[in-house]
Amino acid sequence: MIYIHVPFCRSFCTYCDFYSEIATDGLVNKYTEAVCAEIRERAKEIDPSLPTLYFGGGTPSLLPLPALTKILLTLAECGHGGPWAEFTMEVNPEDIVQKGVSYVRSLMTLGVDRISMGVQSFDDDLLRWMNRRHNAERAREAIRIVREAGIQNLSIDLIFGLSNLSDSTWEATIDEALALGVNHISCYQLTIEGDNALTHMLETGDYVEATDEQCWRQYYTLCRKAAAAGYNHYEISNFAKPGFEAVHNGGYWQRKPYVGFGPAAHSFTGRGRGWNSSEIEGYTHTDEALSVEDEKIETLMLALRTSRGIDEEFLRSNCSGATIDSLLGERALVKEGRRFRIPEDHFFVSDEIIRELV
Ligand code: SF4
Repeated sequence: MIYIHVPFCRSFCTYCDFYSEIATDGLVNKYTEAVCAEIRERAKEIDPSLPTLYFGGGTPSLLPLPALTKILLTLAECGHGGPWAEFTMEVNPEDIVQKGVSYVRSLMTLGVDRISMGVQSFDDDLLRWMNRRHNAERAREAIRIVREAGIQNLSIDLIFGLSNLSDSTWEATIDEALALGVNHISCYQLTIEGDNALTHMLETGDYVEATDEQCWRQYYTLCRKAAAAGYNHYEISNFAKPGFEAVHNGGYWQRKPYVGFGPAAHSFTGRGRGWNSSEIEGYTHTDEALSVEDEKIETLMLALRTSRGIDEEFLRSNCSGATIDSLLGERALVKEGRRFRIPEDHFFVSDEIIRELV
């Protein structure tokens, strides 16, 4: 599994806490050279058993095709030229509309077979408040273009849990996403952290946080509507039509090793975590081994986020039997065959359940 971080944006979203720079030709060139050098240096760390490639960001659709091609050729030189079990590219709807069908076809020629689009909402007022570059109509057009190019495996991101997102606006956004029939939806509750416009608005009183009850209601509205439309809620934040579950992200939840290239990218060796510093020029890589306790907590946290859950033997040998029985009694945990999982109606409080277990 390979992750490549593309830390460029055209503008910054109100709530964003990711490392990203405004894309300029000079910076993009420096970035491309640095990533290719890192690939040559660290390619031996790549485990070929799950050949997935994921370009995330930032905004990977800002990366010019020659730069993308150069990175892919460097991977191929190092023995990782595909074919890929899944090759995902995150895109901004506005880039897709501006670059058109030919751009998406070029991505497909390079091997991309899955697009993850940052739609966030189909409400123009909210998109403006988020300082997104697109409006709802451009998102619809981008989805149409991706399909016209021939990509079926299309995921969109949506955000809920904003105090200025009314239940009726949220329902309209979900209804539109479902009516468009995208095969995968990733849905995240707004988090307020870092140094960005939203944290400043919170300090000045220009924004108040959504209540837990509002977040809970919006989350379960999506669960209910997605289930009725035939989506499998296979991970806390992810819904897929059968057969469209994300392979690369599935690897993260099963703790399969991956190598992350590029500024601010993270890696996982199977026994330790690594990360790159957040700067374009001269970024550095650091590795840290996980303690036995960290491994246990990570395994529990990642597996219990999924509908597949966790193996009985692992749970019983690492957690208190009394806690497991009590959670089973409350139906905060259910047992199916040799596996335990958190049922969907408790997904929203999964952090508390996992805290009890560890
Ligand atoms: S949310 Fe995405 S597009 Fe918006 S500023 Fe952050 S990285 Fe860029």
